[in-house]
Amino acid sequence: MAKTARTFRIRRYDPAEDAAPSYREYVIDVPEGMTVLEALIRIQAEQDGTLAFRYACRGAVCGSCAMAIDGVVRLACRTQVRGLEGETVTVDPLPNLEVVKDLVVDMDSFFEKDFAVEPWLQPAEPAPERERPVSPDDWTEAEPYTNCILCASCHGVCPVAARDPEYLGPAALAKHYRFLADARDGAGEKRLKLVDSEAGVWGCDVVWSCSKICPKGVRPTKGILATRERVKP
Ligand code: SF4
Repeated sequence: MAKTARTFRIRRYDPAEDAAPSYREYVIDVPEGMTVLEALIRIQAEQDGTLAFRYACRGAVCGSCAMAIDGVVRLACRTQVRGLEGETVTVDPLPNLEVVKDLVVDMDSFFEKDFAVEPWLQPAEPAPERERPVSPDDWTEAEPYTNCILCASCHGVCPVAARDPEYLGPAALAKHYRFLADARDGAGEKRLKLVDSEAGVWGCDVVWSCSKICPKGVRPTKGILATRERVKP
């Protein structure tokens, strides 16, 4: 099988060291079908064991490997190297989150925002003897938002998250709407109060960048606008 050499230009940074971020280059052969994640694993194994990046499932399920590849936020595990233009692939950490080391970002603030919208079902009725069924019609609105894998890609491209650390962000607001739209939930009024602020749904610039970048087809902006309709201004 034919191979093609590619240069990977990777942003390196270790806050524990007294040095500014810089790019380091690695050249590897890229066989057909190799993903950026597989390239990083090979570089780490064969050329530089100090390179830090995060991954788990390798199959676009865990949401761990979001990063900026050639300036576009994507999951490294589903980005084919040969599908990228040019001989050099530039890799940066996910924007809008603090860098722990190299391509690893601190996800704590992201998960705290997710938790702040109380992402669990809060039914008004006592628990039934068996499960709480929901009809297909009632599930249609909430269902797309259940596909979120918490990869933070949307957070990384959000202009509001870039300038306002208090902003809940598209992922948390999409998760909020997932429960607001759930016919089994009974905490609607309380939920609306949680996001009725500039840090919540009113802070969104409505530029749809989160919805365009989401690798799972979630449309946070749509959920934010639907929530605004329900909030009493
Ligand atoms: Fe990732 Fe999409 Fe969820 Fe945002 S909404 S965290 S881009 S899966």
